[in-house]
This record gives sequence, C-alpha cells and structure tokens, in this order.
Amino acid sequence: MDISFAGKRALVTGAGKGIGRATALALARCGAKVTAVTRTQADLNSLVQECASITPVCVDLADWGATEAALQDVGPIDLLVNNAAFASLQPFLEVTPNQFDQSFNVNVKAVLHVSQIVGRGMKARGAGGSIVSVSSQASQCALRDHAVYCVTKAALDMLTKVMALELGPHQIRVNSVNPTVVMTDMGRLGWSDPEKAKTMTSRIPLGRFAEVEDVVNSILFLLSDKSNMTNGVTLPVDGGFLAC
Ligand code: NDP
Repeated sequence: MDISFAGKRALVTGAGKGIGRATALALARCGAKVTAVTRTQADLNSLVQECASITPVCVDLADWGATEAALQDVGPIDLLVNNAAFASLQPFLEVTPNQFDQSFNVNVKAVLHVSQIVGRGMKARGAGGSIVSVSSQASQCALRDHAVYCVTKAALDMLTKVMALELGPHQIRVNSVNPTVVMTDMGRLGWSDPEKAKTMTSRIPLGRFAEVEDVVNSILFLLSDKSNMTNGVTLPVDGGFLAC
C-alpha cells in the first residue's frame, strides 16, 4: 500500500528522539512538509542535518504560554501527530504532586492545546485534516509503577474520542495508536531489565516488543486517506496484548 503525503503539511511533537523522530522522517520521505517540535535544540539540529526540508521548533510543551508563542507562526497544518510524552515511574504510594503535574501537562494538556491550535486552523480552512495521538497499551491495562502514566494515557484516549466527536463534522479525523513497549529511551526506562521484560513479552501473543517502525506505519495509515472512514479509534500496536 503506497501512501503519499505530497502537498500535505505535518506537525510532529516530540520529534527529537524515538517514535516522533522516526515519524517526522517518514512523513518527509512520503512527501509532507514537516514541522518538528521538541524541547532539545541539539536533537533538532541533528534532525535537520538528516533531513533539510524539516522545519524545527524548539519549545517545552509543558509550558502553555511558550507553546502558544512558538506555534503562532507555524502556518496551516493538515496532519498532526501528538507524540511527546513524559514518563517517570514509581510505586503508587510514592507518587508526588510534581510528577503528577508534569505528566498531565505534557501527556494531556499539551495534546489538548496543540490540537486546539492546529484544529482551529483546519476548521477555518475547511479542508479537513487528520490528527493522531500516541497513546499506549497502558491506557487500558494497569502496569506496576505506572499509576500516573496509565492515567494520562487513559485521559488521552477519551480526549481522542471527544475530539473525534466534535471535529468530525469539519472532516477532521482524530485517532490514537496504542503501542506496547518499544525500546526507545522511554522504553528502556521501564523495561531494560531482562527479567521484567520477560514478564511483559510473555503476555504478548506475538512474544516480542514493538519496533519503532511498527508504530510509525500505524501512525502513517491513520494520518492517510487509506483510513478515511476511521475516526475516534484507539488502535493497539501491541502484538495482541490488549486482546487477552
Ligand atoms: P522518547 O523518550 O524516545 O522520545 C520522546 C520525545 O518527546 C523526545 O524527543 C522528548 O524530548 C520529547 N518531549 C518530551 N517531553 C517534551 C516536552 N515537554 N516538550 C517537548 N518535547 C518533549 O519516547 P518514545 O519515542 O518512546 O515515546 C513516544 C510516544 O510513544 C510517547 O507518547 C509515549 O508515551 C508513547 N509510547 C511509548 C512506548 C515505549 O515503550 N517507548 C510504549 C507506548 C507508548 P527530550 O528528550 O528533549 O525530553
């Protein structure tokens, strides 16, 4: 299945590393004009070195005002990928208010905010659009030491559905991908211990973690017109983890 994004303008958050970086590069390869948003300038420098057509925007998405300012001149966007997230693991009884606020600011509030900025433009232009948020299997299954992360992703799934409901009449589709573990920096944080990893892979029918490309391919599908009638879904990319 060939997917082309020629003539489309895309914005990817958390594009400095991991899934977001690979998504930004894949979108550019498929012909999109990509704006990459992240908070570490060195990552943006290396990204632009790798793909000169990408427009970099450096901002901490946890900061509402700074995000508003950074994105005000971003121009029309057809495709949005809400990928940036914060994960900090601890037992439920040790969760701090700071960890709670930081997680919700990036994983939920920034998604709402960036989607508002982009969605308003999509609605005003009347040409529709597609928004994909990167959620997690953790939105639907309790994971030890992941209390706050799980709750942010559960909130993100519901935000996806409400956005799909309200933006659908403007031909703006909103969906999420919900991956199992991927061995990025974030994945290594929770799952680099082989014993712990085995407890997870043993619960995945396909018996392995996802690759970055697995997630990117599902994001591209949901962004593209190949999924034109798909709206408000939370698509597992989990080898069957959530099915059992
Ligand atoms: P990485 O940690 O590899 O990359 C995350 C990217 O987001 C980094 O570039 C990071 O920048 C950026 N980012 C984080 N916080 C902010 C912020 N406040 N402002 C701007 N940019 C920010 O993560 P992954 O690629 O693994 O994760 C991508 C998405 O996939 C996330 O939504 C995550 O929850 C989800 N996911 C990941 C899984 C996994 O096992 N890896 C499993 C399921 C879902 P910096 O490095 O500078 O902080």
